[in-house]
Amino acid sequence: MNHCLYCYEPLEKSLTWSQWLTVEKPSVLCSSCAGTLEVISGKRCEGCSRSWKGKLCLDCQQWRELGDNIEKNYSVFHYNDALRDMIRQWKFRGDYVLREVFRNELQRAFKKQFADKYPRIAVVPIPISENRMQERGFNQSLALADMLECPVNQALGKRSGENQASSNRKVRLKRDNPFFITKPLKQTALIVDDVYTTGTTVRQAAQQLKLHGCPAVYVLTIARS
Ligand SMILES: [Zn+2]
Ligand SMILES: [Zn+2]
Repeated sequence: MNHCLYCYEPLEKSLTWSQWLTVEKPSVLCSSCAGTLEVISGKRCEGCSRSWKGKLCLDCQQWRELGDNIEKNYSVFHYNDALRDMIRQWKFRGDYVLREVFRNELQRAFKKQFADKYPRIAVVPIPISENRMQERGFNQSLALADMLECPVNQALGKRSGENQASSNRKVRLKRDNPFFITKPLKQTALIVDDVYTTGTTVRQAAQQLKLHGCPAVYVLTIARS
């Protein structure tokens, strides 16, 4: 018998009809864990996926005024407490298994929002520094990008430095860009990451891509906080 990937309770369900009819993989979560995840639905900001009635939220309007370097961020889930714990647990376990929780929704969003519209889009994960890689043993953005079933371009690297989470937004904006190019990309890029919070990280990554000839950068994240 299979077990819920998150809480380890036994899964009793057999395949549903929609799973028989499509290539979609069966749920890896029990119904109570699956029920805690909230897919973003309804009106959202066209720039960052935050729930928003108008076209662009105030944050995104400000980014545009500064000369934004990303076209848009598309997030799949609301970053609620349950998802926050799940992502923490995933990083803490340091394995690739919990990413299966996001596979179906992430693939669906990728296809509908990006792959169908931009067939040559290049998938680029947010890199982690070598120090962090040694500590954690895996890069969660790469783990997500790998699930999109198209070639992954590791076009960026990251210098080791202070932990980003420890400094506030102003400091982060001012600081030197921690990312560098390992392989210039001359086609439209899709940065993949776990959570979009202020959007500073993905914009620093996008800046490097664009400085080296990338014409446009989109972002796909599992959660909008
Ligand atoms: Zn469960
Ligand atoms: Zn926005």
